[in-house]
This record gives sequence, structure tokens and C-alpha cells, in this order.
Amino acid sequence: MPQRETSAQNTLGLLREIRGLMAGEEKVQARLDKFVTVIAGKMNVDVASIYLQRRGGTLELCATQGLDPESVHTTRLKSGEGLVGQVAYTARALNLADAAGHPMFAYKPETGEDKFRSFLGVPMLRGGRTLGVLVIQSAAARIFTEDEVEALQTVAMILAEIAIEDERASDAAGKLSGIRLSLDRPETYSGKAFSTGLVYGKAHLHVPPMLAGALIAEDPHAEELRLEDGIKRLRADVDVLVSGDAANLTRASKEIFESYRMFAYDRKWVDRLREAVHSGLTAEGATERVRNEHRARLQKARDPYLRARLHDLEDLANRMLRILSGEKSSGSKLAMPENAVLFARDLGPAELLDYDSDKLRGIVLEEGSPSSHTAIICRALGVPLVGRVSGVLDNVENGDVVLLDGETADINIRPLETVQDGFKLRMGARGELQKAFDALKGKPAITKDGRPISLQLNAGLLVDLPQIDISGADGIGLFRTEFQFMVSEFMPRLEAQTDLYHKAIMAAGDRPVTFRTLDLGGDKILPYSDPVPEENPALGWRSIRIALDRPGLMRYQLRALVAAGAGKNLRVMFPMVATVDEFIAAKALFHKEVQRASRSGAELPTKIEVGVMMETPALAWSVNAICDHADFVSVGANDLMQFFFAADRDNARVSDRYDVLHPAAMSIMRFIAQGCERHNIPVSVCGEIAGRPLEAMCLIALGYDTLSMSGTGIGPVKAAAMNLDAAKLRAFLDPLISIHSRLNTVRDHVKDWCEKEGVPI
Ligand code: PEP
Ligand code: MG
Repeated sequence: MPQRETSAQNTLGLLREIRGLMAGEEKVQARLDKFVTVIAGKMNVDVASIYLQRRGGTLELCATQGLDPESVHTTRLKSGEGLVGQVAYTARALNLADAAGHPMFAYKPETGEDKFRSFLGVPMLRGGRTLGVLVIQSAAARIFTEDEVEALQTVAMILAEIAIEDERASDAAGKLSGIRLSLDRPETYSGKAFSTGLVYGKAHLHVPPMLAGALIAEDPHAEELRLEDGIKRLRADVDVLVSGDAANLTRASKEIFESYRMFAYDRKWVDRLREAVHSGLTAEGATERVRNEHRARLQKARDPYLRARLHDLEDLANRMLRILSGEKSSGSKLAMPENAVLFARDLGPAELLDYDSDKLRGIVLEEGSPSSHTAIICRALGVPLVGRVSGVLDNVENGDVVLLDGETADINIRPLETVQDGFKLRMGARGELQKAFDALKGKPAITKDGRPISLQLNAGLLVDLPQIDISGADGIGLFRTEFQFMVSEFMPRLEAQTDLYHKAIMAAGDRPVTFRTLDLGGDKILPYSDPVPEENPALGWRSIRIALDRPGLMRYQLRALVAAGAGKNLRVMFPMVATVDEFIAAKALFHKEVQRASRSGAELPTKIEVGVMMETPALAWSVNAICDHADFVSVGANDLMQFFFAADRDNARVSDRYDVLHPAAMSIMRFIAQGCERHNIPVSVCGEIAGRPLEAMCLIALGYDTLSMSGTGIGPVKAAAMNLDAAKLRAFLDPLISIHSRLNTVRDHVKDWCEKEGVPI
């Protein structure tokens, strides 16, 4: 038998024995003792030792076969000290024929290791952390073979998982003296609050770690085939992404997909996977192991480019794991415990809706953006979301207690009891505040100077509809029809569309519902569509532009809207209109559908109003002209502001670089409101700013009487509006937002004004 095969057989034998030991009932220490005996025997060496990392990074000898047993729990090395410390610090294997000759060698006489010349140490990696170091030593001076290094790395990874599992299962007496491998220290992170609320819950990782049992291959040959098949499918997947068929489907830029492809075809990455499977791991185990190695190394990198590559590799590994698991079966909800706080790098709206919203209490993302559709859905569901929490995934495990503060954007993981108590008090106070908002539910929102304000709901899915009554909204000011398309696996048929629109109208009763026609393209993408690749999708062929060039889909939708509105008032508006002609053309298509329904003898809506979304600066400057044609105007401030400031709403680097309370932004909002008022055309705001009390007060002051927002915004905005003298704030704002203003924002000025005027915010 060739030498390589023999060593593979040995490794398999070793892994089988380890699996056998896993089945026993031992405590952590007893199991570690058995592991080192088996490792030394099977790898044919004189010494096998396990060093585990204590808090602060000190490595402690916890089990040994071959060194002096007296040194167990006595010999310790500081982080970076000696060869063992070096392995832990670099997260890389160290393979030496003559250990004592290495400049980092630190002699520990109590171990009796001076007899042993050769040294092989490998890190015990789990996630991005190094839990300890596994070492083998021999009296003979020799370099260990590549296969031996590989085998020891595989064993080290499995030991890391087992040690964690054992530790969790042990009672206090069964744990290793003073060493805690699981994450147990409280950690605090800060991010950006994208959806407010306080949550006391348990962490649930979107991509969970694997159990040790699932790492060891039953049939190595079958695993090799599975891996090869997985690699082939992964490459095909990534090729599709890069080829552009799907390049517009996510916000990730083409560059990211290119780097995925680079990794997917990278010989080294694939060879590492193959070697890991060859050493006895399952295909999943191999993926996990290679990922751990990259994480542990790249995590130390400060260079943002390298850290971004780490993310790419993570994504690729996750994709590979999904491919290997055969993906979840469609239609089923993903499992999650009660009171879960979901942790993920990023999460698309469809992925979010894969979870059971009854159990989901909050979300923490390493990335994300405030106007992404995931954030919008979270606000609709009343699920707090904190995004841009860099590095949080390295320090959280399934089941950790989490305090998520969607107001200050702070996350406490494994908090101390006292911190938990303080948080509970705040939750109680917030509950009181919520009760105060609830008490306002039946009351009209009338400002102190007597202006009635209509506060409406932004919705789009069936799950949003109960919010109308829960929040006491005065109607649905924006129904985002594309959400139904985005979360379906197939294009929704006419009946399904009609059904949803009808349900929305029924849920609102006699309150108005404003449907927006499909707003696709840009950040809104369909899983089943075949978009044309574009350099700059936000400014590309999207929304009404698609609808006018290829009217089939929109006519189909308008047909559904006309049918759903039979016998009721029907309000429809068109998104992303840049010129008055576009609006006139879209309106003509709508009337064709009304005529069609009329010809077929179907019952028609009793009243039809056709409006426009004001979300391009060009249309804002055409406010007088559009008012001659539209029945109402709704300002889509999310898009209007992204185009106004030329700052991508989904790009974390720029999306909150400019404040919507900048005098220039405020004055364009005032210009639109004044234009509509002159023409007696109702105008509202339905972007996210409408749901924030301070911004909402400014909008009311500038002349907006209708604001549409997520359900959670209605109580706070109503409370603010009812305490506001809008004319007084207008008088205060006007000079601040004059064209000569040099301010970057009027936010602090308005806050001070509120304080002086006793307006609570
Ligand atoms: C907007 O642009 O402000 C808006 C309400 O539409 P969406 O967020 O769906 O683009
Ligand atoms: Mg928009």
C-alpha cells in the first residue's frame, strides 16, 4: 500500500477511536486523558499533549501522554511564549526536527521534555478562536510528514468541538480547573439602530456551528465524492453569479462575486478541502476546518481589504455548506428557539421571512443598512434590528443571553445579572411608554395649533396587515406591492395578487389604501427574474422604466388592482417617475385596464385616484407640472434623498453620511409641499423619515399633513405631533433652511427648540 494511503488509514483509525471515546460518559478531564493516549499510540510518537487557553491567553498543559504527569495543570505558557504559545498566537502549525534549537523555545524543566527533539504543534481552532494547542513530540529528530500534520490538524479541530460540547454538558464539578473554553465573558458591541425596541432574548446564529459528531466521515470515499460534487456545484453557482445573470440580484457588487470565483477556483482552497476530507473529515467538516483556519489568521488582519476577503471566504464556505446540506426544503420555516435574537452577517428579506416571526424577537447584523428591505420589514413587524455590528459573530454562540437595545444600538452578550436587571427596568419603562402610545390609539393626531395629521402605515405583505389595527393607523399610505414578488419563489399569479390587494383593502375597512405599482430593480430583485446586468442599477432600468418599456407585467398587476378594488375606492401610484410624460403614459396604461374591466362587465371601483411618487429630484422640480395630472403626490424620501445627495441608500459607507435634516434637503421638501398646496393636490411623505418623531415634526412644520410609516413609528410620531405647535416650528425652521444656510443639519437646533418648548421627543 502506498505510504500516503497507509497514513490516511491511520488517521481514519484514530478518528474512529476518538469517535468511540466521544460516546462515553466521561468528564472533560478523563476524556482528554484518553485522547492523548490514543493520539500518541496511533500517531506512533512519544508524547501527545493538550494545552488549553485560559482567560488572558495563558496556555495550560491539561493532558499529556509522555511528559511528566506532575506538570499537568502546572505548566503554563503566556500568550506567544515558547513554541506552544507561538502556535496559538499565529494559529499555524509548527513542525520542527529540533525543538530546542528554535529561537522561541522556552524550556519547562518540570515536563521532562528535554528528551524529545522533534515537535509538531497545531492550533485547536473553533470559529475564529484558538482554544488551545495540540502537540506531539518524538525522541528522534525528524520533520513530521505533511500527512501527519494534516492528520493532527483534523484531530485538533475535532478535539476543540468535543471539548466545548463536553464543557457545556458538564456540571460545575466536572469542568476543568478554572478553564472555561466556551465564551462566557460579557461582551458589549455597538452598531446602528435600524429598527427600534428592547429585547431580552437568546442568541440564535443564522449559520450555526457544526457538532463534532458531524465532522468525522463514516465512509471517506463517499465523502470525497460528495466534496467533488459540492465543489462542482459551488463553481457553477458562482459562475452564474459572475456571468451577470444574477449580478444585480443582490447589493453585493460584481467585484465581490469575482472574488468568490477567485476563491472557488483557487487551487489552494480546494486542495485544503480535499486534504481535509482525505484526513477523515466529512465534506462539511472539511469546509468548516478550512474556514476556521482562515478566520483565525485573517482575524488578526487590520487591513480592511484582507478582512473583506475573510468575509468573502465566509460567504463561500456558507454557500458550500448549504449546497452540501441540499438547502432547506422550500416552504418550511427554519427552526429557532423562543425569544430568539438572530445573528447574521447580512440577511435578505426572503431569508428573514424563512424564520417564524412569533419566535423572532430581534436581529443583529454585522452589515445591513437602514433603508434595506430587511430593515423595512423589521420595522413593519416591530422586530428591533441593530446593524453594522462589526465582529460580533466571533463572540456569540447559540443560546447566549442577549440584551438588544434598538434605541442606543448597543448589544450586550452574556451580560452580568446587574446589567440584566437594569435592562429589565428599562424594558418596563418602555412598556409604560408603549402603554402611553397605546392610549393615544383612538385619538386623532391634532397639533397644538389645530392641524389634523393623518398617520398611515407602510405595508406590503400579509404579515403587515394586522398592524393597521394594532397601531391605530389612519390607513395604508404605501403598499409596496413588489414585496409579494420578492418573497415568492415564482411570479405571483393574477389571483394571488388580487387576493393580497383585496385583503389589504378589507383590513383597512373604510380607511384609504394606497397601492404602489411594482418597484423592481435597484435593490429590489426577484429570485426568478433574469435582470439585465447594469453598471449602476439604482440609476438603471428599473421600476416605471421597465413598466413602460415592457408593459405586460404592470398591466397584469393593474388588472389585479382594478379587480381587488371592485366596489371600493382604489388609490394607485407609480414609483420612480422622473418626467411628467412617464406619469401620463403609466396613467394611460391604467385607464386601459379600467376600460378592459368595464368592457367585460366586471364591477369597477367606485372611485379611482391615480397618484405619483415623488422620488427623483427632476420630478420635484416639475412639481407644478405634475400637479396638473396627478390626483395626489407621495414623497418617497428614501430614494429622493439618495438621488439628492448622490449617496447610495444601501451603501454603508455613504448612506448616513448626509442628514435628511440638512437645510438643502429640508428646503426641497418645503418646495414640494408648497407646490402641491398651491395646486390643492394632497401630498404625503412615505419614506422612513416620516416614522421618526423629530423628522416627522419638521415635515409637519413644512406643510405635510399625511405621513406614512411603519407601525412602530405611529405612537411616537402621534405623541410628538400632538405636542407640537407646527406654525411655531415653521417660523423657527424657515430662516435656518434658507438658501444661505451653512449648516450641515438642523437636528440639534430642532432638539434644543423642542426642549425649550417642552415638546417631548
Ligand atoms: C422611498 O423611496 O422613500 C419609498 C418609500 O420607497 P422604497 O423605500 O420602497 O424605495
Ligand atoms: Mg423608493
